[in-house]
Amino acid sequence: MLLKGKTALVTGASKGIGNAVAETFLKNGAVVYAVSRSEGDLSKLQAAAEEAGTRVVFKACDVGDEPAVTALVKEIIKESGGLDIVVNNAGITRDGLIARMPAEAWNEVLKVNLASAFYVCKAVSMHLLSRRGGSIINMSSVVGLHGNAGQTNYSASKAGLIGLTKSLAQELAPRGVRVNAICPGFIATEMTDKLNEEQKAALFGRIPMARMGSAAEIAAAALWLASDLSTYVTGQAITVDGGMTM
Ligand code: NAD
Repeated sequence: MLLKGKTALVTGASKGIGNAVAETFLKNGAVVYAVSRSEGDLSKLQAAAEEAGTRVVFKACDVGDEPAVTALVKEIIKESGGLDIVVNNAGITRDGLIARMPAEAWNEVLKVNLASAFYVCKAVSMHLLSRRGGSIINMSSVVGLHGNAGQTNYSASKAGLIGLTKSLAQELAPRGVRVNAICPGFIATEMTDKLNEEQKAALFGRIPMARMGSAAEIAAAALWLASDLSTYVTGQAITVDGGMTM
């Protein structure tokens, strides 16, 4: 129950890593506002909330739509009475070599993965400053540190999230608001289901632990960053990648 009494907003919570983060937060007593484009299967989250004696509230929103995000954050702050934890997790891929990449694939990935975090952070920053505390977690990627052929758009968005994290951490630190990024390695979700066996085998060769991570293993890192176990940690990009980055 590391998050009892806290309220969290998690984007991209309908499946994959965001869903595991929402579930872990609920199991630890937080009230969770689960934001996603579509509702998906919320039964797991509802069961976790019930068991922990807390609640999950679903809100539909396209995180790439600034006016919608601003209105949503305002609504959640009013409805919940105050936010403590914000996880910018929603993300997409539109892979391809740069020579063949339509500008639309570049723009879409930058908007959903990076501009969305700016919209959310802008909308919550004054609120968290006035509460003199809070934890913002941005879901980056090891690809934002290393780059990856075929993912110029995705890598740029994830590297951008690290820059946003470090700059915002400096802006908000004096009032006790912490901002960190998580850089997952290769995690078993729908996003990585798209890889063929050959691509997966090549990736395993680069992971000392020689396996993919689970969404729950990323959620555990998010729990630590969201909780009071990490009160002296800000501006960090924490890799959770089976040893790929060392
Ligand atoms: P996923 O495809 O399983 O889930 C993505 C989630 O984001 C879904 O809930 C989806 O509805 C939501 N989403 C997408 N576009 C949205 C939009 N415009 N508005 C609102 N919600 C939107 O992906 P995942 O693997 O769980 O990835 C989650 C995050 O972790 C992403 O930011 C991804 O880049 C990052 N990440 C994943 C891996 C991996 O190996 N899976 C590795 C590193 C980083």
